[in-house]
Amino acid sequence: MPLYAFHCRDCHHSFETLARFDETPECPACGGAHVERQLSLIAKPAAGGDTDAGHSCGAMSGGAPCPGCPALAG
Ligand SMILES: [Zn+2]
Repeated sequence: MPLYAFHCRDCHHSFETLARFDETPECPACGGAHVERQLSLIAKPAAGGDTDAGHSCGAMSGGAPCPGCPALAG
């Protein structure tokens, strides 16, 4: 299973876990089910020009990272 990043809308905890594509885990911090999947940096496809598909951060291209930049996490 691929590794996905999730964000809890209840307690704003961010975490990564293995999950099926159609599966949403519980928040490990509060046990809430209001968890939303973040764009996976790990499984991001090779550069192809589809830059509108998600968050475009300066850290990806040598620029300044955004606040709380996922590219710098972990
Ligand atoms: Zn939570």
